[in-house]
Amino acid sequence: MKKKFMSFMQGRYGADHLSNFLMVLSMILMIIGFVSGKEIVILVTFGIAVIVLAYSYFRIFSKNHYKRYAENEKYLSMHNFFKSFFSKGIAIIKDRRKNHIYKCPGCKVKIRVPRGKGKIMITCPKCKTEFIKKS
Ligand SMILES: [Zn+2]
Repeated sequence: MKKKFMSFMQGRYGADHLSNFLMVLSMILMIIGFVSGKEIVILVTFGIAVIVLAYSYFRIFSKNHYKRYAENEKYLSMHNFFKSFFSKGIAIIKDRRKNHIYKCPGCKVKIRVPRGKGKIMITCPKCKTEFIKKS
């Protein structure tokens, strides 16, 4: 049995990041369908989940390594893009909690000021305009 499986898997591409992601995605879709409890949602999510899962298996058993590798590379670059996009977004949200952003009335440059200091005099670092704001 193990031998048969080994010879079957010979030359096949196997699992990679993209196929793992697709499997998790299809599982999430099925869970969404279950949780919704609505027939139409279950039908749609399960339909998509089956297609996603089939594609994932197709990739694993594929013998076209070159194409599968290229797909995985594309996925990884997209993954990294979204990861950095979200971590940047979270960093900005965290920063907004601690700091206020004011626009200089003179030159419109953005100035970061720590929150919770009461009324303060802000001096623009670019044009030296002074203005008072509540932080
Ligand atoms: Zn200024």
